[in-house]
Amino acid sequence: MTEKCGVVGVSLEARSAARPLYYALYALQHRGQESAGIVTHDGFQQHSHVEMGLVGDVFDEDDIDSLAGSAGVGHVRYPTAGSVDSSCAQPFSVSFKSGSLGLAHNGNLVNADEIRDELAGLGHAFTSDGDTEVIAHDLARNLLEEDLVRAVKRTMGRIHGSYALTISHDDTIMGVRDPLGNRPLCIGELEDGYVLASESAAIDTLDGDRVRDVRPGELVVLREDGSGFDSYQLVEEERTAHCFFEHVYFARPDSRIDGTLVYEARRELGRRLWEESGVETDVVMPVPDSGRAFASGYADGAAETTADGDPREEDDPGVEFAEGLMKNRYVGRTFIMPTQDERERAVRLKLNPIKSTIEGKTVTVIDDSIVRGTTSTQLVNLLKDCGAAEVHVRIGAPPIVAPCYMGIDMATREELIAADRSVAEIREAIGADSLAYLSHEAVAEALGESRADLCLGCVTGEYPYDIEDEATDREVDRPEIGGAPVGADD
Ligand code: AMP
Repeated sequence: MTEKCGVVGVSLEARSAARPLYYALYALQHRGQESAGIVTHDGFQQHSHVEMGLVGDVFDEDDIDSLAGSAGVGHVRYPTAGSVDSSCAQPFSVSFKSGSLGLAHNGNLVNADEIRDELAGLGHAFTSDGDTEVIAHDLARNLLEEDLVRAVKRTMGRIHGSYALTISHDDTIMGVRDPLGNRPLCIGELEDGYVLASESAAIDTLDGDRVRDVRPGELVVLREDGSGFDSYQLVEEERTAHCFFEHVYFARPDSRIDGTLVYEARRELGRRLWEESGVETDVVMPVPDSGRAFASGYADGAAETTADGDPREEDDPGVEFAEGLMKNRYVGRTFIMPTQDERERAVRLKLNPIKSTIEGKTVTVIDDSIVRGTTSTQLVNLLKDCGAAEVHVRIGAPPIVAPCYMGIDMATREELIAADRSVAEIREAIGADSLAYLSHEAVAEALGESRADLCLGCVTGEYPYDIEDEATDREVDRPEIGGAPVGADD
């Protein structure tokens, strides 16, 4: 069971924490739409409201008023296809001899079953099959014997995998990031306290100032009087494994993650896409909304140089940037529709082309990623139906060849269009005139990190933790990733 989510923790001088937590969860809604929850602490009294649904539907005024106390944690949970399991909704709360815990988790442990079996053998009763409960029980057990910092350290020594956690232990709020920093977590300062959140956009929403990212392996403890925070570097690793897909797709463009503004990263990825595989079409258009920043960077690149890399002459009209696809913002994510038929229908409901920007023209469409290939297949069809003379597809990430085991809901291997196809075969499957992905190197350069410090598991099949996966055994020839585009004649 993976936890693909957004987490937050707030500690204020005196004001109720429930409302800022609620607003922060609103800001993190894109990280999870299945359930939302807040746990607050009022001295030793714990209050919890956790339900299935969107943040705006889960809480009403009375719920927020009932969540007393100036400290608390919150969570939004990502939906997995067909999942309606409220037992995994978070924050997870547990009361034990020396206090109560509230725990919100984003990530995925690789050894949760092992620890669960061990704790169950010691008499712990579990109510869900989620990782979060395992962490909560392990920590509760350690807190019976150790102080807070040592207890967290001991738990960190036992759990393996990705995690960004916000934890309440009575009135004390903490944030922990896994030793490789796979999932994001940052610290913000408010007028009367501090906040920990998956993304800095949540801090902005609270009119706070982002202080910094929580470091990989670091425990941050917010002071109960809201006056500051204390840092404990509990585990140190030589490398990091920041998830590149946060920058490519998952995070909000207005968030800063591991020092890089996501919007700028996407524009840079788009610019490199132009450099690596630009094609001189009449127009370039994004797949809204996720392709927008990529397409704007790509168009900027196209304004400066030609596809051959020469400076663009002044009288050369270049490639026009156009918003040729309109999105119906009331349609949910196509990705989580349980059947392929529904997913195809949903793409059509979600995206509608503006015929006049397309008819008779050669068109490049830019998206951040291809997962199953549903969106791009439907789009190429749509654009051709609208009279596009040619449709070229450019993708701001490398082919997704393997599932994510680190906390992003991707798809199963069988569903991934690139799992056992070459780029040429994918081009054919989606019906585009040409197709190109971005190279692994360009991703690392655009994010300003070395390849070794990124988790590229979904595009390489090599994970930072020991995962049993056959991704690396495939016999598909993929040397052409990110190089020249693959066209119909290839
Ligand atoms: P697909 O239609 O299955 O190829 O999915 C590709 C589309 O889904 C792209 O437009 C992406 O922006 C979006 N996408 C990529 N990864 C995810 C994810 N983990 N969850 C939801 N949507 C995603």
